[in-house]
Amino acid sequence: MSAHPSPISDPTSPEMHWSRWGDPAHAGPLAESAFALVDTFIGTTDTPAVDPADVRLSEPLDAALVAELAAIVGAEHVLTDHETRLHRTRGKSTPDLLKLRAGDGSDSPDAVVRPGDHDEVEALIAWAVRRHVAVVPFGGGTSVVGGLAARRDGFAGVISLDLLRFDKLVEVDRTSMTAVLEPGLRGPQAEALLAAEGLTLGHFPQSFQYASIGGFAVTRSSGQSSAGYGRFDALVVGLTVATPQGTLELGSSPSNAAGPDLRELVMGSEGAFGVVTAVRVRVRPLPEVRSYEAWRWASFTEGAAAMRTLAQAGMLPTVLRLSDENETAINLAKPSEVGSESAESTSGGCLMVTGYEGTPAAVEAKRAAVTALLAGLGGQNLGPDSGQAWADGRFHGPYLRDSLLDVGVLVETMETVTFWSNLDHVYTSVKDALVGALGEATLVLCHISHVYETGASLYFTVATKAADEPLPQWLAAKAAASDAMVHNGASITHHHAVGQDHKPWLAEEIGPVGVEILRAVKERLDPTGVLNPGVLIP
Ligand SMILES: Cc1cc2nc3c(=O)[nH]c(=O)nc-3n(C[C@H](O)[C@H](O)[C@H](O)COP(=O)(O)OP(=O)(O)OC[C@H]3O[C@@H](n4cnc5c(N)ncnc54)[C@H](O)[C@@H]3O)c2cc1C
Repeated sequence: MSAHPSPISDPTSPEMHWSRWGDPAHAGPLAESAFALVDTFIGTTDTPAVDPADVRLSEPLDAALVAELAAIVGAEHVLTDHETRLHRTRGKSTPDLLKLRAGDGSDSPDAVVRPGDHDEVEALIAWAVRRHVAVVPFGGGTSVVGGLAARRDGFAGVISLDLLRFDKLVEVDRTSMTAVLEPGLRGPQAEALLAAEGLTLGHFPQSFQYASIGGFAVTRSSGQSSAGYGRFDALVVGLTVATPQGTLELGSSPSNAAGPDLRELVMGSEGAFGVVTAVRVRVRPLPEVRSYEAWRWASFTEGAAAMRTLAQAGMLPTVLRLSDENETAINLAKPSEVGSESAESTSGGCLMVTGYEGTPAAVEAKRAAVTALLAGLGGQNLGPDSGQAWADGRFHGPYLRDSLLDVGVLVETMETVTFWSNLDHVYTSVKDALVGALGEATLVLCHISHVYETGASLYFTVATKAADEPLPQWLAAKAAASDAMVHNGASITHHHAVGQDHKPWLAEEIGPVGVEILRAVKERLDPTGVLNPGVLIP
């Protein structure tokens, strides 16, 4: 795999590849070590994608409607060409990629519209209600739950409301340590603007390079530094939202008792209740030091117990993650070395990464306390090399999926969250469900990367030989694993959100009264249902 620049310092990510993850310049074949591993255990078949010009898209939006949109945002901000619409078709789940690679672009928008300010968004929504056109807000396009594939039946068309031009740092309040960010800022852009002020948001999901501030908020995203900075919903202080009923301004104070917190209703709303046009976030000083280490544990169970002890002792480092035995053995913590035989991958056990950020004194104090606790629990300190290698390669993993799809290997990830007392049971149940659905020659890897005093998330990576029809093959496995989560008391999602794909399990998780509440909010805010139809609401 080619060398990647650090996305944290590169605020100008190019447009994502149309049918793969990330920067097109980094698309490439599997490294030799990974190919050998996959060929031996799973088998490979050359499976190229179609030519992008051959992907079948919807018909472009009617010219009269295009002219009306141009009157709202300017003709140069309404695009109907094949390439622009292709790049706004669906998100980046494996089903999304499989469909595009096979030439199916049927969920494409009929036009891509790029408003420049809040008033234009309001005007676009009012227009969409009048014309009964479906509106799909588009942030970074990294959804993995079908959040960008709106239902089109019954609508006069579908537009992608692309927030690309919402790319400013609007305001910084240094006394309160908050900043107002526009929703179209991608992770690296937001961090670069804040870094110029000596600040950081500290939100680094694996999709950081492309995902947007608005997308983070409405999907309740969680980043790799969640132990230190908190998940994105914990970073949001206020929101401005354009809805068909007018503007919602939320976040008049840091915390209050003024009834249910409506910010919580917007976070996780996935474009179904309104379009977020500004987000006030809490910010932290840019850390002077970032340092990473690795630990080895005899088993996943022992490593998870150590994480729980740290969380319940209030001693969490900034980054805390633990790979299970399978993930450790294939070196997924170092994507560029998958399949190679490093000291960590051949010595058995489970790899843990700890990361510390802050002032030198704060980092040293936290590191010393965590080290004493982990060593006392039986962890083996492997020093900084493997931890730093994880940090250097942490945004490279997603490129592997495309290289595997190229050789006929079906790969996808899924995640859940449950209480500590149920973690081991859910871990085993989901693995069994995936192997049961996909067969014994299936590799299931897992890690824990978000922990709480009361529980933790489990993140699974699955790889198996693609069938002649890989889509139904995966959907059956996904359904079995989702059943295993929800039927065993875990959530259908810890941070990927609901979209189209998780709706049946959301309904089971929140029950009929919960579903009624969501439907009632949708009906009052968006009575004609033009906002992201089909997403979120069961
Ligand atoms: C390789 C990969 C790795 C990932 N890793 C992580 C991870 O570590 N942590 C994590 O939390 N997630 C992760 N994800 C999932 C995804 O990145 C998150 O859900 C992200 O928060 C979505 O942001 P986005 O800007 O790309 O949103 P989009 O994909 O553009 O949109 C997501 C949903 O939000 C709606 N939306 C977007 N912007 C707005 C807005 N301004 N107002 C209203 N609605 C809006 C869209 O209509 C859609 O329904 C990963 C995805 C991929 C492909």
